[in-house]
Amino acid sequence: MQVGQKVYLEPIGDQSRISSEILECEVLKVGRKFIYINAGRREMKFHTDTLRQVTRYSPDWQIRFSLQEIEDEKEFNNLHSQLESAFRYGSRDKFTLDQLRQIKRIIDEPPKSEIKFPTEETVSVDTCICPYCGHEFNGQRAINNNLDVRIIDCSKCRKEMEVYPSVEYMCVAIDGGGEVE
Ligand SMILES: [Zn+2]
Repeated sequence: MQVGQKVYLEPIGDQSRISSEILECEVLKVGRKFIYINAGRREMKFHTDTLRQVTRYSPDWQIRFSLQEIEDEKEFNNLHSQLESAFRYGSRDKFTLDQLRQIKRIIDEPPKSEIKFPTEETVSVDTCICPYCGHEFNGQRAINNNLDVRIIDCSKCRKEMEVYPSVEYMCVAIDGGGEVE
């Protein structure tokens, strides 16, 4: 972390029950033991090694390096609980054999963590994977739905990468398929 760097403070614990507002802050000082962060008119102190807020009580704020990081975690929690409940209640009637096969195939894929980073390139269907640090993020959001965007920053390590989005083709039947002999 560097002085002047922009970070975000996400409310946790008691604070998250008061408000979900995320504070945009700046790093004021980076010491051997403590980091000082300027949050509006307040100055907050965090441990340099653990990034935990310095407080006698349970911490109210957590340092985040990008809004994307916060979004990703929300999305993760959301999807996780959706899948959990999808399989919990009456799921035997909900899925077809083919769906279960697809789910099984995805689950059996080697976890991304088995790829050694940095690597030359990554290919993934639903998400972008940073070739430097392995961070996974929403590619569509990263390029802002603009297929001309080629260079983006990793929201975690901040390094630049080139992205080649690909498209999906949807083929729709027209009535009977026209004249066929
Ligand atoms: Zn990265």
